[in-house]
Amino acid sequence: MNAAELKAKARACGADLVGIAPVARFRDVPPERNPASIFPECRSVIVLARRICRGSLRGVEEGTNFGSTYQCFGYTWVEDNFLSQTSYDLSLWIEEQGAEAVPLFAYNEAGMPKGVPVAPDKPAPNVYIDPRYAVASAGLGEVGLGGFILTPEFGTRQRFAFILTDAELEGDRVRGKTLCGDCGGCAAACPYGAIHLDRVQSLDVEGAAMPVAQIDVGLCAACPNGAFLAAGRGKEPDRIAAACGRECLVRLESAGKVTNTFENKFRKRAPWQLDAFKRPMMRDASGALTAVDVGCGKFSGTGVVSVHATGQVFSK
Ligand code: SF4
Ligand code: SF4
Repeated sequence: MNAAELKAKARACGADLVGIAPVARFRDVPPERNPASIFPECRSVIVLARRICRGSLRGVEEGTNFGSTYQCFGYTWVEDNFLSQTSYDLSLWIEEQGAEAVPLFAYNEAGMPKGVPVAPDKPAPNVYIDPRYAVASAGLGEVGLGGFILTPEFGTRQRFAFILTDAELEGDRVRGKTLCGDCGGCAAACPYGAIHLDRVQSLDVEGAAMPVAQIDVGLCAACPNGAFLAAGRGKEPDRIAAACGRECLVRLESAGKVTNTFENKFRKRAPWQLDAFKRPMMRDASGALTAVDVGCGKFSGTGVVSVHATGQVFSK
């Protein structure tokens, strides 16, 4: 089995993207996030992705359907069913070739429950591999300023899984930062100011530096603008369908940076927004976002509370 044969099989199993990172690229990753903690003989980290169909974002973009479109066909079913089947079928094929294959979800670690170390020299279970580092290491994409994993094929629209194997496979070239233009659109689209462009950390992969803004995931967890917190995935919500993630997709597509193109633009109308009390927000004549009066505003005087576009709460 060589890398080309493995990639052809991965695509036959349904993968839209497949990349390989030699495990040496994880040499500086702490044991708590290192593939070698899960499989000490691992030689290669295979990163698989299946696309999120753009239409699964339509109900969220229009603000009219969240659960049966994106949450299923863009999120949980893609990870738990479609991509899992791809990972498992490919793992079985790898093992038929005589190498061991460890299929893994690409869940974020934040907020996931931890057990106790089984030995003094082992990290506590469960060890989770950082998806952002792994995807960049396997040459599939980059991490944008807004924290999204971006690929040239689909922009923000894909989900990832890993297979660790003791087969030595040729690694893919690390791409570095080629897609995110630091436009700040994701931060501007966030009604709560949860993306802090003034607090940036660099994610470095094999000499490629990717600045990533600090995200207030606590605000995101309460965000009614398309963020999803699925069961069993920790405390960091999925933001691909959120106001920030859809804005990023719109910008990447408009800039011609996504190769999976469509006849019509994704964004056809001005995006909707809800404030922290789930009240629709509209732009006034000055362009500022204000909450629409849906009844609460009729109670004038002491006790009326409004929420500014930045997420600040004001009482009158
Ligand atoms: S998920 Fe919501 S709160 Fe978080 S960055 Fe995106 S728009 Fe802002
Ligand atoms: S919206 Fe702009 S700054 Fe934010 S991640 Fe996307 S390309 Fe980067």
